[in-house]
Amino acid sequence: MFYYEVHCYSCKKVYRVYEGTKEYKHYKKKREKGIYCCEDCSHNIRIEAIKNFFR
Ligand SMILES: [Zn+2]
Repeated sequence: MFYYEVHCYSCKKVYRVYEGTKEYKHYKKKREKGIYCCEDCSHNIRIEAIKNFFR
């Protein structure tokens, strides 16, 4: 199985993006310029965004 090792810009952890996932396709397409974060962080970011929205 193919995967990329991606650095999370938020928590600086390295996480794996496996072939066949949405993230993998996304990463493959624009890995040069993209900023990526792991599932935990993107979850937190989403929650923060929702909180800010209702503030
Ligand atoms: Zn992270």
